[in-house]
Parts: sequence; C-alpha cells; structure tokens
Amino acid sequence: MLLKPFTIPAQFYEDHPSGKIRCLLCPMHCLIAEGKDGFCGTRRVRNGVLEAVNWGLVVSAGMDPIEKKPLYNFHPGSATLSFGGLGCNLSCIHCQNASISTPRITRMGRITGMGNGPMTPEDVIRTAVSRNADGISFTYNEPTIWFEWALETSKLAKDNGLYTVFVTNAYIEREPLDALGPYLDAYAADIKGWGQDFHTKFCKIPRWEKILEAIDRAKNVHGMHIETTTNVVPGYNDDDTTLNSIAGWVTEKLGPLTPWHVSRFIPHHKLGHLDPTPADTLIRARKIGLDAGLKYVYIGNVHGLEGVEDSHCPKCGELLIKRTGYYTRITGLDGDKCAKCGEATGIVR
Ligand code: SF4
Repeated sequence: MLLKPFTIPAQFYEDHPSGKIRCLLCPMHCLIAEGKDGFCGTRRVRNGVLEAVNWGLVVSAGMDPIEKKPLYNFHPGSATLSFGGLGCNLSCIHCQNASISTPRITRMGRITGMGNGPMTPEDVIRTAVSRNADGISFTYNEPTIWFEWALETSKLAKDNGLYTVFVTNAYIEREPLDALGPYLDAYAADIKGWGQDFHTKFCKIPRWEKILEAIDRAKNVHGMHIETTTNVVPGYNDDDTTLNSIAGWVTEKLGPLTPWHVSRFIPHHKLGHLDPTPADTLIRARKIGLDAGLKYVYIGNVHGLEGVEDSHCPKCGELLIKRTGYYTRITGLDGDKCAKCGEATGIVR
C-alpha cells in the first residue's frame, strides 16, 4: 500500500534498545533515529517505522545491449530495458555514476523534475514489451536499496517471460538476497578490490567479506548467471596481489567459466586527478585472470585492443562470439555448446 508517492513500509529492520531502528537490508546496518535517513538515503524512520522512500523512483531509463551491463555470456546480442533510481549504500571515491548515487532523495524531486508519481512494475513490463525487450536490468545506481520495488518488478517480469538482471555491488544481507534469488536470472557484480583496508578507504564500508558471500550465494544457492567486474584504478587495486586474489577467488568459488571483466578506470568523482588505467595494466590483469584458470577475461572501456572482448571455446579455442564495441556476432555456438567440439561453454542463450 502506498503511503504517498514513492514511499512504502520497508522490509528488513529491527528495533534497537536505543529507540532507533537498525536497518538490515545491507551489511552497513545503519542505526537510524526518528526522522532521519540511513546512509543510502533511501530508508527513513517515521513514527517508529522504517520506510523505503524510493518505490518506483526511476530517474533514468533506456534500451541497452546486454553487453553494456557488462554481461557478455548472458543472452549475447539481446536488448534489455534498463533503469535506475537514486542513492547508493557504498561511497566509492571513484564512482562513475556520482550524479545519481550521491544526491539525497528529498532534493531530487526538484532537481530532476520527477514527482508525478512512481513508475509501477506494470509500467516497466508494459514498456519492456512495447519496446520488444528480451529482459530488464536494474542498473545505473545500486538496485539493492530498491529492494521492495525491485522484487515486485522482477516477479512480474518473470511472469511475462522477461529475463531479469541486477547490476550490483553485491553488498546485501542474506535474507533479502534469498527473497530476490528466485526472481533474478543474472548478477553482474563488482569485485572492486580485496580486503577490509581497501574497502574502508575506497568504498567506506565495514564487513567487506559480505560482498563475496552474496556473490557466492547468488551463484551456488540461487543459480544465477554471474559475471564479475573490477574497475582497475591505478595505485589502488592494480597490484598483482589484489588481482591474483580476485581471480583466484572467482575461479575457485564461481568456477572457471565465470567471466571476469577488467575495465579501464576513467577519472571521476574524487579521483578526477588520476590518469585513466594504462592498457598495459589491463593486459596484465587479463593475463593474471587467464593464468588463474578463468576462461573468459574481458577488457572493457578500451578501444583498439584486438580480441580482448571475444569469447573462445574453453576447450578447443574456437571463436564463439566476436565483439566490436557493443556489436556482437555469434560465430561458433550451437545453443550453449561449442559448434566445433561440443564443449559446454556456460554461455546462456
Ligand atoms: S540499505 Fe541503506 S539504510 Fe539500510 S543498512 Fe544499507 S545503507 Fe543503511
């Protein structure tokens, strides 16, 4: 039941002895006083109840190639209706989407001209069907903090034969992930770095290991298709130790057929003074991934490097998919198998 446009009772919280409310949607575990917001700006305490103030608050939407998420091994060449809201539960110093991740929702009605009412799950499905989308993607900002609306919309999307994608930082508690799990097909999850020190400095979060737990659970309990991305930032997460740790974990926990995207950092937000990631660094990162046993390591955000976005058969090396930018040409697949040797590729079609 809507209390007012965009605001509904939130899920996942508990009363705290201090009289405040503890939000349990993500591992930030914000302790929120009456009339105040949590860290992400999307959950607010009013009359002793936690409210989500972003139900259906869509501030950007458009049709994208699925490759843009980035998802290269999931319905390659398909079109996805993408949409995003406001806010984030992380505060990354290199954020590539700060204009939508950092504003507070109380101000955004005026800034964006929104406020005519929420976009309902039915609106999303109608739009997706009318645009011939193959699926929908929650993206641009962090969808975890859109939990209530994302769950409702995902259920309806599945009822209507659309695939569902979360492009996410994977900083979510187990219970909400388990609620979403049956209705999400793919999790395009960042692994931004390695270790608590990095996440404290870079993302301003405690309990960084919860990210790995969520990605592991999305794959191994809920059976989602997983692709991981590391935006490689010079001087922050481009060292061999970090890259080896990420690649080793993905190989061991998610399996060698899990794609790892190593993407070029473009100066943004509080790291606007840095240079973009050199191509040599990304080539080194890709080699680390391949040496760890991963079969699909893609370099993103770089033009002019031949073949680093293509998919090859993990067994015989046959070219399966040729990519140029977001243009995708399937050359060697028979269903989800290599057309030449019959090997299972892990590519979802
Ligand atoms: S979802 Fe938002 S309010 Fe809740 S714990 Fe996470 S950052 Fe805090």
